[in-house]
Amino acid sequence: MFDNLSDRLGGVFDRLRGRGALSEADVREAMREVRVALLEADVALPVVRRFIDAVTEKAIGQDVLRSVTPGQQVVKIVDDELVEMLGGEGHEGLKLDVKPPAVVMMVGLQGSGKTTTTAKIAKYLKEKHGKKAMMASLDVQRPAAQEQLKVLGEQADVATLPIVVGQQPVDIARRALEASRLQSFDVLMLDTAGRLHVDEALMAEMNAVAQVASPAEVLLVVDSLTGQDAVNVAQSFSGEVPLTGVVLTRMDGDARGGAALSMRHVTGKPIKFAGTGEKLDALEAFDPKRVAGRILGMGDVVSLVEKAAATIKEEDAEALAKRMAKGQFDLNDLRMQLQQMNQMGGLGMLAGMLPGMKKAKAALQQSGMDDRVLLHMDAIIGSMTAKERSNPALLNAKRKRRVAAGSGTEVQDVNRLLKMHQEMGRAMKQIKKMGGLKGLGALFG
Ligand code: GDP
Repeated sequence: MFDNLSDRLGGVFDRLRGRGALSEADVREAMREVRVALLEADVALPVVRRFIDAVTEKAIGQDVLRSVTPGQQVVKIVDDELVEMLGGEGHEGLKLDVKPPAVVMMVGLQGSGKTTTTAKIAKYLKEKHGKKAMMASLDVQRPAAQEQLKVLGEQADVATLPIVVGQQPVDIARRALEASRLQSFDVLMLDTAGRLHVDEALMAEMNAVAQVASPAEVLLVVDSLTGQDAVNVAQSFSGEVPLTGVVLTRMDGDARGGAALSMRHVTGKPIKFAGTGEKLDALEAFDPKRVAGRILGMGDVVSLVEKAAATIKEEDAEALAKRMAKGQFDLNDLRMQLQQMNQMGGLGMLAGMLPGMKKAKAALQQSGMDDRVLLHMDAIIGSMTAKERSNPALLNAKRKRRVAAGSGTEVQDVNRLLKMHQEMGRAMKQIKKMGGLKGLGALFG
């Protein structure tokens, strides 16, 4: 997600941060590069202009340039503006505080991922909010649509309205409302029909259903891979039906992110969820702050903290934070981290979230390694002496051969591990220097 943009911006800001003093010209030059990066990410031009103007004005206008850490402050301004561009602080959840059943109407073009997303949200409401949801498909256009929703319902363990062949959308909506009232469902999800293009008949049908169902939420599902088209579709829909929010699907494959970045400003509608895969739990509550953090390569610290809190013992984390602050991150610490990573869902999962791990992730993919590597690494460290673990510099060629033999690996695996340890040490120093996280204690707190 956002990989290209993230790489581009990372380069610009590394250069800014690396300098002690910044001139107005430096900021303007950096902003020219940011502008190009945003345009290449397919962000709508007016949104780019606004963004660049806002950042430039703030960065040049205040005392930023005369401050002790100008580069860091410019990055902070960019971060703030990105959050704004993505829709402001925090996740804008569904507003379902109405007399039950709260109706959530799903609309969108064919193939946008609407039916899948309907089931994802029903599952999410059940698991995260304890809401009992029923789903009904109003799609009488596509022959297998109703059947598809039924199958998804079975997978997600969410009830679906029994199919009555030949019934029309508005009548299905009425029947669904009655059934969910009678059976005391909290939420009714209506999956409406899609079309290939936005057309009048579709809009008339949406509005007729909305009149009958008085939805608490009308969510438009759009495919983020279609970039500015997604934004245009959202614009046409919002002129016709009372949209309350947008769900962007296929964010897992979207390296550019133009739709996500333009959506709020062009349509005025919040992005409420992001689809991140085909599985029914591949749904994220869209949180502008988190997403901005990801784009700036600061890692998805909030997600990480949530996961870490569930796995990591506080004493361990404190001890580690202390050692790190002293620059004493040795192989014992790395081993502890590897074991925790394993418990937290493996390397791939973490690598994308942890600051400084982007390179490690790329290296990992290149070498075709997978989570077994965690076990190998554990075995390698296990084959070292206590002295070697606390002072890896001792590991000369002979010792490396011994360790490799002892752990059933090759010398190059041992070297790879040592290199990773070095990279992590360096990344951690960088985090400390950036002052973005108050040591790792904050991360694991
Ligand atoms: P609909 O025609 O709008 O109802 O679209 P479907 O729900 O049938 O989805 C079309 C295809 O997109 C299916 O193969 C889904 O598995 C896939 N899909 C939906 N959402 C996502 C997503 O967030 N990521 C990925 N990778 N695939 C998705």
